[in-house]
Amino acid sequence: MRSLKILPAILVLSAVMPVPATAQQPTTVSEVIDKIVRQEQVEVQLLRQYSPLVETYIQNIRADKKLGAVPDGDKYFLGRAELAKGVELEPLEREAGMKRKVFGGWANLFSTEFVPRGFLQMIYLDLNGFDRQHYKIEYVRREFLGEVRCLVFDVDPLPKAGKGRFVGRIWVEDQDYHIVRFNGAYGGQSLITNYFNFDSWRTNVGKNLWLPGFIYSEEGSVRDAKTKNIGFRAFRAQTRLWGYDLGNVREEQELSKVLVEGPNTVNDQSEAANDYLPFQAERSWSRQAEDNVTERLERQGLMAPHGEVDKVLETVVNNLEVTNNLDIQPEVRCRVLMTSTLESFTIGHTIVLSRGLIDVLPDEASLAAIVAHELGHVVLGHRMDTQFAFFNRVRFDDKETFRHFDFARTPEEEQAAKSKGIELLGNSPYKEQSGTAQLFLQALKNRSKEIPNLISPHLGDRLLTSWTIVAAVFSAGPPDADLKPAANVIAALPLGGRIKVDPWNDELRMLKSKPVGAVAETEKVPFEVTPFVIYLTRQGDHSATEAPSAIIAKTDSEPKP
Ligand SMILES: [Zn+2]
Repeated sequence: MRSLKILPAILVLSAVMPVPATAQQPTTVSEVIDKIVRQEQVEVQLLRQYSPLVETYIQNIRADKKLGAVPDGDKYFLGRAELAKGVELEPLEREAGMKRKVFGGWANLFSTEFVPRGFLQMIYLDLNGFDRQHYKIEYVRREFLGEVRCLVFDVDPLPKAGKGRFVGRIWVEDQDYHIVRFNGAYGGQSLITNYFNFDSWRTNVGKNLWLPGFIYSEEGSVRDAKTKNIGFRAFRAQTRLWGYDLGNVREEQELSKVLVEGPNTVNDQSEAANDYLPFQAERSWSRQAEDNVTERLERQGLMAPHGEVDKVLETVVNNLEVTNNLDIQPEVRCRVLMTSTLESFTIGHTIVLSRGLIDVLPDEASLAAIVAHELGHVVLGHRMDTQFAFFNRVRFDDKETFRHFDFARTPEEEQAAKSKGIELLGNSPYKEQSGTAQLFLQALKNRSKEIPNLISPHLGDRLLTSWTIVAAVFSAGPPDADLKPAANVIAALPLGGRIKVDPWNDELRMLKSKPVGAVAETEKVPFEVTPFVIYLTRQGDHSATEAPSAIIAKTDSEPKP
């Protein structure tokens, strides 16, 4: 018998206990610098073996009287890096010619090829001679990034070192001397001719292995006259890399488990009735198609492996089902798409929400509103294309993914799911918490024109369809539900506000951070690009199955004794 489950509030927050670092002291600065240079050369070579996914989301900003700066147009790029070839990128296109469309507007400043590669380049400090012949490297101090003790250096190119050299500051962990963060710009003429400022983070994903995961960049200021003069539009951008170890670890573990079990284990169900009736065969066939699609997306790094965030979503599904007396077979599952785009869809009985969407939702009630709509599709039996139950149908080139998979619905299905979703939500306890979901939708509506690429789905429904559902349910709600957020209410979170991603194996965790006090009006930045502040940790040997938890949005830059 199932019952309502109480989710520990998604925003539950707990303090993070720093683990004391056991580090050796540097001997002389000069020796340390030699070690750093050597380690960075190793890093550049090491990276050549990887082909992570790279996502860059760029938001132009404009001045706003009340809020300081607000989004004003955006760009989105998703591709697979081929680091063996330097900063090569294979775009994963939503449709043919997308690349041109997305970046066309920047043609006056950048070539269309340039922009995504330019952002990818920021995983390297200097591909072409980071050493003492080209740089002056000066020790500044010691500082903790998260729980990792670092040595901080200022880096400047020597005169005549050539153009495109890095200028800025580096953080070096003090055990093996990996550069774990660098913050600055490429000077002179580089791939990116406008010297974008950037802050590039590497996270520890295994013993002695630090890989680029997060880059925040920005250029220009809405107040800066110089920015206006060169006809350049101020922007902020987040670049994320993940999927360094797609499938490998899991497959190996799975296979070795099977091998350990030995050949004598048989699937012994001989006493049970185990032949399939036709309707069961049909169900099983659909499930096969679902599994094929989700497995394929996971292998490509587009879908997170099943984990803790899925369980949060499944709890919401459970609560909707229980209060609506539903018993859906086969049971509804939930998965998370890795991208920052805001989208949701169903694949048979699998409900998929994007990481980006979950990130910006303010609370469980607003999450339930989105889930209710998708559950509407499931309840109404909206089918997926079961041709994917044939294994050959899920074999295709990476870059064709978005052409082969499309889970958007017909307008008729949308309309029906909308009504169903309203009904499901109306019977649920979430109905009582109308305020926040309503505010979220209002915020999204208000912003939608400025963030068209963020709300363009790769695979599923536009969120637009889910908006109306909430409006309908909640307009019948408490009449005093004011659309103006109260002082401490946040209508929608900035990008990346909730989930941390492990760049190595794509595992997702809910962020743990301390509760924030009062948030100023200018600090509420719904749907906005904000800087990354990564809570760095050290991992053990990566053969361990435990998930690295690399990032927690918590500033911790105070030097500790
Ligand atoms: Zn829909």
